[in-house]
Amino acid sequence: MKRPVTTEIPLRCTCGALRGRARPSPRSPRLICHCDDCQCYMHFLERGELMDDWGGSEVLQMTPARIELSQGADQLACVRLSPKGLMRWYARCCSTPIANTMASAGMAFAGVLVALVDLPADAHTRDEALGPMTARVNGRARLSGVQGAPKLALFPLLTIARALRLMIGGKLRGEHQPSPFFDEGGAPRVTPQVLSESERDELRARLPTYPRG
Ligand SMILES: [Zn+2]
Ligand SMILES: [Zn+2]
Repeated sequence: MKRPVTTEIPLRCTCGALRGRARPSPRSPRLICHCDDCQCYMHFLERGELMDDWGGSEVLQMTPARIELSQGADQLACVRLSPKGLMRWYARCCSTPIANTMASAGMAFAGVLVALVDLPADAHTRDEALGPMTARVNGRARLSGVQGAPKLALFPLLTIARALRLMIGGKLRGEHQPSPFFDEGGAPRVTPQVLSESERDELRARLPTYPRG
């Protein structure tokens, strides 16, 4: 599938204190993740309204060097749902999710939450700027057999392959740095909050179950 050559995408948290821009490559995968962790994260932020009707969070995957926070970077905060979980970055001012990364600064990967993208809501404008949606992934345990639920990628191998290509290519081009999330020495710019098991369970209890069709 031919994807449009994207230019600069403005980023803005809900309150406007944190701003920046992203320059995803034309091949940046755009997907919707329905996994439990992504849903727990939105509930942690008390931003459930940013998910679609089926608990999906829209993400645009790119390398950290393609993300720049030009204003309000002091609002950066980070949470991990478990000691080994992804680093989930957000804007402290208004709890807008920013991006998910691995815990290592050496990984050329960041999944930017499209909730941070400052674009008109209409689908046409978004498709032009962000490229077409590649897939809906994860969450099959909750959604399979549910009437009206969106179709999820059965074996998201292609999604994984695309993410790997992004990571390997990005690393070869040195695009793991500079990063808005890790300093030159590879240390996270803010110390992540790590949730306890009971905190995580509390969030998990908020996830919906759907009647099977
Ligand atoms: Zn804000
Ligand atoms: Zn997820």
